[in-house]
Amino acid sequence: MRINKIKDNDIANGFGINMSLWTQGCPHCCKGCFNGETWSFTGGREFTGDDLNYILTKIDNHNVKRDLSILGGEPLCTENAEGILQVCKAFKSKYPNKKIYIWTGYVFENFDEVQKKILNYIDVLVDGKFEEENKNLSLILRGSSNQRVIDVKETLQRDKIVLLDINK
Ligand code: SF4
Repeated sequence: MRINKIKDNDIANGFGINMSLWTQGCPHCCKGCFNGETWSFTGGREFTGDDLNYILTKIDNHNVKRDLSILGGEPLCTENAEGILQVCKAFKSKYPNKKIYIWTGYVFENFDEVQKKILNYIDVLVDGKFEEENKNLSLILRGSSNQRVIDVKETLQRDKIVLLDINK
């Protein structure tokens, strides 16, 4: 897995202050993408054990409680998904009550086996490519209206897509 960066304090991706992990490499080429620097599969750098350790030990640095946001790039492409699975497993093992958010250009219903395994460890999934013609800056956690903010635990439990109640 390759990453673009890790941000300790991200107030733009998730609710409140989150730590964010930005993966490197994206196959979707959405028109109007805000983050073209993450497209290249040779850019950024390899994710290391030190990076995982950093996330696990610094997430609550300075007594600020944070959840984990994972975005990119495309965290769930073949090149990155296995690494993200390991990050999510380790994170939830240490912090079962912290939330994990993932943003992906793939659509929930079309997930492959590795992507489905990741669902078992995360709380919120924002799915679907960014569509410039459906761009809406007032939307919460998403950039275009085709994207969905999915409550993953409820979705798996009820076996149907349940959108996150953002007023909860
Ligand atoms: S999925 Fe995200 S990073 Fe990839 S092209 Fe679309 S908007 Fe950009």
